Amino acid sequence: MRIAFEHSYAALPARFFADVAPTKVRAPRLIRFNRGLAQALALDVDALDADAVAAIFGGNVVVEGARPIALAYAGHQFGNFVPQLGDGRAILLGELLDREGRRVDVQLKGAGPTPFSRRGDGRAAMGPVLREYVLSEAMHALSVPTTRALAAVATGEPVYREEALPGAVITRVAASHVRVGTFEFFSARRDHEGVRLLADHVLARHYPEASAREDRYVALVEAVLARHAALVAAWLSIGFVHGVMNTDNTQIAGETLDYGPCAFLDEYVPMGVFSSIDRQGRYAYGNQPRIAQWNLARFAETLLPLLAQDQGEAIAKAEAALDGFGPLFEAAYLARMRRKLGLAAERAADLALVQELLGLLARARADFTRTFRALGDAADAAGAGADATAAEALSAQLGGAPFDAWAARWRARLAEEGRAPAAVRAAMHAANPAVIARNHLVEAVIRAAVDREDFAPFEALVGELERPFETRAADSPYVQAPRPEERVEQTFCGT
Ligand code: AMP
Ligand code: MG
Repeated sequence: MRIAFEHSYAALPARFFADVAPTKVRAPRLIRFNRGLAQALALDVDALDADAVAAIFGGNVVVEGARPIALAYAGHQFGNFVPQLGDGRAILLGELLDREGRRVDVQLKGAGPTPFSRRGDGRAAMGPVLREYVLSEAMHALSVPTTRALAAVATGEPVYREEALPGAVITRVAASHVRVGTFEFFSARRDHEGVRLLADHVLARHYPEASAREDRYVALVEAVLARHAALVAAWLSIGFVHGVMNTDNTQIAGETLDYGPCAFLDEYVPMGVFSSIDRQGRYAYGNQPRIAQWNLARFAETLLPLLAQDQGEAIAKAEAALDGFGPLFEAAYLARMRRKLGLAAERAADLALVQELLGLLARARADFTRTFRALGDAADAAGAGADATAAEALSAQLGGAPFDAWAARWRARLAEEGRAPAAVRAAMHAANPAVIARNHLVEAVIRAAVDREDFAPFEALVGELERPFETRAADSPYVQAPRPEERVEQTFCGT
């Protein structure tokens, strides 16, 4: 078997990575292979049986054309700088050009120790592997920029955490694995040449439009800011809490990276925190824009020597660029929220309209996803039938009179735009998912797989999450908020 991998990252100097092969596992068994993604990558594996696919994506067979490497990076973790992290359990096989000509990394995660493993075993437990598979594919279906999952393979070996757990390997596909922490790795070593080589690699690979500008490193900062502003706006619009927004998890191409202790809000809590290790709530739902900007300030700092000869001038340029984050985020967020409310035009009062609704949700502890979906059902409350009933139910849930007052303003706004109610409802249903990867649903499929070797619930959930905007029967388990006993209050890195 040969895969036509390319190796633009491995063409960088040797200090950017370490050559290291995956460590073989006892009994690789394919849990799931993402055929759709494989097709998009023009990966021709149809001739292979499941065992052959498991051997490749479990790390037992290094296909011809691969050049396995682990990447060096540093990072700020919960605000503290760690000068060396690196791929401690991830191994890049190489890069592929997808059918649209986009270059992506294909990386095995959980494939054994590397020179960056420190005290870790280089392995991943099956639970977190399934979690990343479900979450990343769900985010993709919601049109949120994200890494993807190509394969999940059980290793047939235990990993030892607090207890012995079944091990697995996930194959992650990403625009690249360059992080803010990769820049910090070189910057902290005063390796200015390394920073410049990395910046040029990233410009050519992810931001060709910026590289055409004369001040291309300023353009790079601005472009990365814009992508992250859009990314965090997308997260907020679906109630997503990343949970571990360290700079080593902040991907330069602007995709959601690292599905550790992430979670979706059920009821709307503006400062919702789920991660067991986020004791101060640094990465709370509502803090995410601020933290993204903080992370990108760390990025801009690494580029200072490239921004201007004079340090004062370089800092001024970096600060000017970073000041752009707020407006970029606000614009991206409002665009997302307008779509959720069925609004096509822009009005100055839109932010207030959004915030007042969120205030009502917070007070009522209403379910974020269900409420927005129901709002679409209630788009035509003046009409007869289902819409009027839906509007009454929403009103009862969101506190009656205050909601009615809000809804009157919202409807007036809709009326101004003059679209037919059915069109508004359809537009809202295309912006407000019915099915998201709720924490209790994810937890249940992991329990079935890990405790009972039953992968059917995992398969079913992955299938449901491929079509998040489709209306389901009211009693479908996939659209329900968790019952009290099903609620997941805490999520774990579970590395
Ligand atoms: P994460 O929490 O997954 O973002 O990982 C943070 C750092 O810890 C990265 O450098 C990882 O490579 C490393 N790491 C996490 N788990 C392991 C493991 N089981 N073995 C080796 N390194 C690990
Ligand atoms: Mg990470």
